[in-house]
Amino acid sequence: MNLDHDPPTGAFRAEVRAWLAASLPPEPLPSVNTAEGFARHREWERALADARLAVVSWPERYGGRDASLIEWLVFEEEYHRAGGPVRVGQNGLFLLAPTLFAHGTAEQLDRLLPPMARADEVWAQAWSEPGAGSDLAAIRSTAVRTEGGWLLSGQKTWSSRAAFADRAFGLFRSDTGAERHRGLTYLMFDLRAPGVTVRPIAQLDGEPGFAEIFLDDVFAGDADVIGDPGEGWRVAMSTASHERGLSLRSPGRFLAAADRLIGLWRRSGGQDGSALGDQVADAWIGARAYQLHTFGTVAALDAGGTLGAEASLGKVFWSELDVRICETALDLLGPDAELLDAGEDDDHWQAAYLFSLAGPIYAGTNEIQRTVIAERLLGLPR
Ligand SMILES: Cc1cc2nc3c(=O)[nH]c(=O)nc-3n(C[C@H](O)[C@H](O)[C@H](O)COP(=O)(O)OP(=O)(O)OC[C@H]3O[C@@H](n4cnc5c(N)ncnc54)[C@H](O)[C@@H]3O)c2cc1C
Repeated sequence: MNLDHDPPTGAFRAEVRAWLAASLPPEPLPSVNTAEGFARHREWERALADARLAVVSWPERYGGRDASLIEWLVFEEEYHRAGGPVRVGQNGLFLLAPTLFAHGTAEQLDRLLPPMARADEVWAQAWSEPGAGSDLAAIRSTAVRTEGGWLLSGQKTWSSRAAFADRAFGLFRSDTGAERHRGLTYLMFDLRAPGVTVRPIAQLDGEPGFAEIFLDDVFAGDADVIGDPGEGWRVAMSTASHERGLSLRSPGRFLAAADRLIGLWRRSGGQDGSALGDQVADAWIGARAYQLHTFGTVAALDAGGTLGAEASLGKVFWSELDVRICETALDLLGPDAELLDAGEDDDHWQAAYLFSLAGPIYAGTNEIQRTVIAERLLGLPR
């Protein structure tokens, strides 16, 4: 396999790098988990969209460039290398959009993708419930048929960005008599519709990174069903494959983190051949291995394949790699790791470490992914 990029891809990389160098906000934006920070991140998304860089791999008519998945990976590498802001629209861009491309109608694509690309509509994922996390098929929220659509009721939780987002997509039980995985319908709804109560959940840092969503006979029209009624589980598994396998955490994120780790290693006067030196080398190798694995995934998709249970392999790998990279950084910083202001370029490691601990939980816990790998990829007995 030839891993060198062709000249047009090289030119695209140069364009992205130059645009980011000229356009990135001079100061880090306020936290996306605050009202002000959310609004500033929306503005940033509009700047990306104006440069046609928000969604490069989408068709042009929706705001993209019809770029290949390899070019999208190149964009991601450059974005993370430059330290670009968190993508406030990530639930829509990386989870809902691939689901719509696979299962949505032409009308849904035309209506939903352009405002998603410009962050005029920011989406939240409303799947988890107090009694349904790992066991997603245990959801109890219901969708009851009404004139022209559905009435949604129940409670969702741990919905990232929902405190400030505009719309949400979720799974609802539309046939209470059916088996657990059947009788589920995948629906979208407006977070400001009558009957919706969004209750932000304050994290340890006080910021509402999540919210609970309470629904009381909330209307969702038939046009907002993805796939057929009763087929929600199948559609949801397609979203989950993207969340775990390709779009949510691209290799660029970890290549950039490994490079920053090497910078920290050099500044801290690390000795080659020491245990910490080996950890730094392992981190770089892990990031590169994930990049190569992803090239393989993209080649398989380009050849007409789909993302399935293999996505669980990637999810376990990137989430554990992230924890190792951050732990190594904290080891290198030593006692300074506990300071919020640890000095030049090192400030973000503590926050990155704390967030990395969530990686083995969100997008389906790693225990569950290991079960998927054992049963569905290795064919081990249940
Ligand atoms: C940062 C973050 C962001 C999130 N964002 C969203 C979001 O936007 N939208 C959304 O809907 N949800 C979101 N979630 C919720 C997430 O999907 C759930 O936390 C996750 O699915 C686990 O569910 P749970 O918390 O109910 O834990 P549980 O399912 O109760 O699991 C508790 C523990 O038991 C283990 N366990 C459970 N069942 C089994 C089993 N059968 N075999 C082995 N071990 C098992 C789990 O691995 C875990 O360690 C987010 C979570 C985090 C941490």
